[in-house]
Amino acid sequence: MSTEMLPFDAAEALAAAALRASGARAEAAEQTASALARADLDGIASHGLSRVPAYAAQLRAGKVKGDAVPAVTRPADATVAVDAADGLAYPAIATGIAWAASLLGRAGVVAVGVRNSHHAGALGLFVEDLARDAGAFAIAFTNSPAGIAPPGSGTPLFGTNPVAFACPMAGRDPLVIDLSLSVVARGRIMIAAQKGEPIPEGWATDDRGNPTTDAKAALAGAMLPIGGAKGAALVLMVELLTAALTASHAGFEASSFFDDAGGPPRIGHLFLAIRPGAVAADTDVVAARVAAITGRMLAEPGVRLPGDRRLALRARNRAEGIVYPTALLAQLRTLAAGSGPG
Ligand code: NDP
Repeated sequence: MSTEMLPFDAAEALAAAALRASGARAEAAEQTASALARADLDGIASHGLSRVPAYAAQLRAGKVKGDAVPAVTRPADATVAVDAADGLAYPAIATGIAWAASLLGRAGVVAVGVRNSHHAGALGLFVEDLARDAGAFAIAFTNSPAGIAPPGSGTPLFGTNPVAFACPMAGRDPLVIDLSLSVVARGRIMIAAQKGEPIPEGWATDDRGNPTTDAKAALAGAMLPIGGAKGAALVLMVELLTAALTASHAGFEASSFFDDAGGPPRIGHLFLAIRPGAVAADTDVVAARVAAITGRMLAEPGVRLPGDRRLALRARNRAEGIVYPTALLAQLRTLAAGSGPG
């Protein structure tokens, strides 16, 4: 595959131009491009600029509203409700995160719900921002279109529903844990199906709920959650924390993030920010406990902290540039020039 190296700023600018030319208002395009380029910087290519062609097609079709402006209401002292208004997710999330940061000092704990939203990308970025910029312990949840079946069924009802956590660490970047609740991303099964290769047992079931190593049968079936029935219970928990608490579509009601068919996905996100000194210890004691707990882990040979692989990639990609498939960049340049099919 032919590739091209782009500095972060150039990647961000190209994505923003492609999104603007596809109908996103300027600030929404910039916020979206920034999140996608940051995911690429961290090596999360599945949630980076590779998503722009699909977002652009959805903007052009009106499945995502390019001119949507997030609307904020304050249902309670420590809560923020953001209506993404069928627009891109990132402007609504940025609005909610800014509110959380501004309320945290007084409130101690803040919950932000985002409804009528779209693909939130790499969820860890937002909790990392809350940890770095607001000093918060932060947790994020989002639901996503159906891919995982409840135990006993082969019918996907719920999304891969990622969960992310971050907390500040003295003298370094925050610790970030960021994971989806499926064993593997659907994209890996799609690649196996394209190559005609089998998949390992434990990744997916067929449409009857039977384990399968046939990638095509898996695509017609369901992805398996991490941790068997316990993971499936977490998937349901995330669905309820997002789709129920924010009155959004459940996975089985949401349209795809990948194509322009159907109406807006209207999924939901939930962010919780906790000020370390506001719970049962003062801030310095919390910081000392974080250092002691992570330090003990790192004293074990071969152990690293979650998120540190991404930080290493971030440092390298910032210095050297991000490697992109040439074909993707050509597609984005066509979109940015305003002549793409979307
Ligand atoms: P990974 O499986 O790559 O990583 C899961 C977590 O485990 C990371 O925090 C990772 O840290 C950590 N980890 C893995 N191996 C180790 C290890 N040996 N030691 C310590 N920690 C480790 O993530 P996923 O594939 O599940 O998710 C990828 C991205 O996709 C995420 O950003 C997620 O938010 C996003 N996503 C978004 C969806 C959406 O609808 N918006 C849907 C599904 C996924 P590290 O990264 O440093 O390795």
